[in-house]
Amino acid sequence: MLIHDTVEAFRASCDEARASRKRIALVPTMGALHAGHLALVRGAKARADVVAVSVFVNPTQFGPNEDFSRYPRSLERDLQSCRDTGVGIAFTPSVEEMYPQGEQSRVRVNAMTEHLCGRTRPVHFEGVTTVVAKLLNACGQCVAVFGRKDYQQLKVVERMCRDLMMPVEIVGLPTVREADGLALSSRNAYLSAEDRARALSIPRALSEALLQARVGDRRVGDVRRAVHERLESAGLRVDYASVADADHLEPMDDATIFPERALIAIAAFAGTTRLIDNVVVGEDPPPIMS
Ligand code: AMP
Repeated sequence: MLIHDTVEAFRASCDEARASRKRIALVPTMGALHAGHLALVRGAKARADVVAVSVFVNPTQFGPNEDFSRYPRSLERDLQSCRDTGVGIAFTPSVEEMYPQGEQSRVRVNAMTEHLCGRTRPVHFEGVTTVVAKLLNACGQCVAVFGRKDYQQLKVVERMCRDLMMPVEIVGLPTVREADGLALSSRNAYLSAEDRARALSIPRALSEALLQARVGDRRVGDVRRAVHERLESAGLRVDYASVADADHLEPMDDATIFPERALIAIAAFAGTTRLIDNVVVGEDPPPIMS
């Protein structure tokens, strides 16, 4: 496995692979790799000849009171996981490499970043689109693989690539969960045993909502309120529990009859840890199979 920490060397390796007619798949990550990330690597391998994984904790997507400095970092273990899953190129730049002195440019996607996580994390998506644009520009033409766990991020990145005519195909892969339904996340490492037990109300609420949504003539507001109540009664602090258009991410009116396809998305705090999860009705299976 090649390991690069400069854009120049990473780009040269990607150019070389393409010159020998190899297709590249890029999996951008912030490290602390878990089985969810590794499922993306396997999905990437199925779609390309060379898999590149970037490991970079991106400071610009964290707000001033968020967890940038304490975000879990485990580079050596991550590199070993990459080797073990057949990654060809690991890109592990420093903050200075990605944001050199004097840099002043940001990439912003408008309307769809104002909903859901954008409401309480105002700088988040600008940081995400900026770093993903930089990573894609460094990599060049590729397939870029993202998880549906961060559904809004996936949709925003798709929009950015289309709008900026980037030579990239975006692929979104299903959320990987623990046996009990909790979505894998690097932030689960912060959870106490009690908070983890409370967090299980998230996949439970989503599973119940999926069933509820399938019953005819259900109103969006009934499903949304049931999710909210389920989370609160488990002791979580709800940031949002929303039913939204699955493409544009606009919240739906409570009075709307539940459509065939819609996003049900949650962000909630277990203790001080903010967790997100979602399902798309009409596309995803229930997080907890009963
Ligand atoms: P992160 O390191 O959290 O920035 O995530 C890097 C990529 O892994 C993103 O595309 C995430 O959506 C994806 N990812 C994170 N957790 C999961 C999961 N449980 N299942 C599938 N993909 C995931």
